Amino acid sequence: MCIFCEIASGNISCYKVYEDDYTIAFLDLSQATPGHTLVIPKKHFDNILEVDEESLNHVMATVKLISNKLIEKLGAKGVNILNNCGEIAGQSVMHFHVHVIPRYENDKFAIATPINNTSENEFNNLLQKLK
Ligand code: AMP
Ligand code: ZN
Repeated sequence: MCIFCEIASGNISCYKVYEDDYTIAFLDLSQATPGHTLVIPKKHFDNILEVDEESLNHVMATVKLISNKLIEKLGAKGVNILNNCGEIAGQSVMHFHVHVIPRYENDKFAIATPINNTSENEFNNLLQKLK
């Protein structure tokens, strides 16, 4: 059983913020900012490529609920919603989860700076492949 399945089944303890029939939300042990919460489906899926629609909808409903909680109860000014899919993206626990990271004035959380020099040609090449 993976570590988040162990948490979902209550075999491993966690700082549980919320639970319903389909999802659990608990504090990430590495707090990117105070209140950083993970939302997982109770059912195991490796990542967002694998998760079924129903579980995904439940997870996102819980993500919204937690976002509101972080803003109302902790005074966050906003949140970042983050999912790492695959090792290259930094996924370390192979059980689908969404990070909800509350944002505060002058916190130190940083996400990668975007590349702003994409040419029209590159945009069109990307569109051709993706549409
Ligand atoms: P990711 O890198 O997206 O796979 O995120 C996995 C996250 O799970 C990391 O931020 C870890 O700090 C966190 N984590 C790992 N084990 C636990 C645990 N037992 N309880 C809470 N958070 C955990
Ligand atoms: Zn699992």
